[in-house]
Amino acid sequence: MKIKPVRGTHDLFGEEINKFNKVVAEVKNISQQFGFYELITPIFESSELFKKPLGEQSDVVLKEMYTFNDRNEDEITLRPEYTTPMIRAAISNGLLNNLPAKFFGTGQMFRRERPQKGRYRQFNQINFENFGSDDYFADIEIICLANTLLKKLIPNSNFTLHINTLGARDNLSAYKKILSKFFNDNQKSLSKESLDKINTNPLRILDSKNPDDSAMIKKSPKLIDLISKTDLNNYEEIKKCLTDLGINIFEDPNLVRGLDYYCHTVFEFKTNELGSQDTLIGGGRYNGLIKTLGGKDIPGVGWAGGIERIMLLMNDVPQKQADIHLAILDPSFKLHAIKIYDFLIKNSFSVYWNYKYNLKKALSFANEKKINYLIIVGENEKANNNFSIKNLSNGKQVIVNIDNILDYLK
Ligand code: AMP
Repeated sequence: MKIKPVRGTHDLFGEEINKFNKVVAEVKNISQQFGFYELITPIFESSELFKKPLGEQSDVVLKEMYTFNDRNEDEITLRPEYTTPMIRAAISNGLLNNLPAKFFGTGQMFRRERPQKGRYRQFNQINFENFGSDDYFADIEIICLANTLLKKLIPNSNFTLHINTLGARDNLSAYKKILSKFFNDNQKSLSKESLDKINTNPLRILDSKNPDDSAMIKKSPKLIDLISKTDLNNYEEIKKCLTDLGINIFEDPNLVRGLDYYCHTVFEFKTNELGSQDTLIGGGRYNGLIKTLGGKDIPGVGWAGGIERIMLLMNDVPQKQADIHLAILDPSFKLHAIKIYDFLIKNSFSVYWNYKYNLKKALSFANEKKINYLIIVGENEKANNNFSIKNLSNGKQVIVNIDNILDYLK
């Protein structure tokens, strides 16, 4: 019986796992620098956590969720995104008493999309969320955090921050109505897929890539005309600060993002090196969402990044090799060898043995893997209760015992 992996899933090993671990390690470093705490949530949640907040008409809810009935008929969904589970967890565990409350997490997400390079049905996301601050410095900070992370992980790649403002939530609902009317009046000049969105999700027409839609998108009413002066001023300040910080900005008035909960600042870090799946990180403000999910009426801002997409742009990460290789020359010396093996492990060295009782093979293996030291356990070593240790970078070999080997390795 040969069972294939499920379409759109992939295993991580070798080079890939080194890159993956580097991303997670860097996320943890940066979270400390910026003062975000880790929050790990379950992989599945009640479906209602996603349906309404993400938008009943969003692609994710309409087509992509892995939803099933549990044995007691509860409807469960494998999480397609991390913001709503993080909010649910912050509310369930009373983590919103001291604000701002800043959290991050990494983990698997599930969306039944058409798989292609950079797009999978199970993938890993990084999420950073800041709950409770209306100050636009929180937007700048979280974007700056994303930029810092990308610069660390893919210093040689080109990426640009695409940014837009959607204004306050009521501006946005008014705008959706105006937009629906405009597109309804111009149905003849739209693609078939956009026609389906006119009444349900007109904002999504704005980021349609179909050339049949481009003329109408150009002519469509602009959201910016509805946004208040204060909100526009804040947006200008955000852009100015980010430019001063040296971040490459592209202002994109058609950037709306796929999920319903966004307002004010929305942004995406995009690259020109990955073809159509070019968004590395996406996020924005979601004032109102925490209240919708049963929490206090406090604002929030955050982003999600795709680990696999970032990995596609990373250089190889060298595998950490063992510090010491063992060469046990005969099975009867094993009990003597295990003493030094155990001692070195307890003293935090990494030790490798390939179960071959052969000095030549051990040497060539250690050289090939660029291991620094070879410990040889032969007849004399066993008889004298000591060990030979060879420094493979200069070829020098000396005799040591358990009491002085640490001095030698220092
Ligand atoms: P979104 O929640 O759709 O804004 O996605 C945030 C980020 O997650 C994207 O910018 C991608 O980097 C990544 N991502 C989203 N969907 C997928 C997918 N199906 N496969 C791999 N990465 C994804």
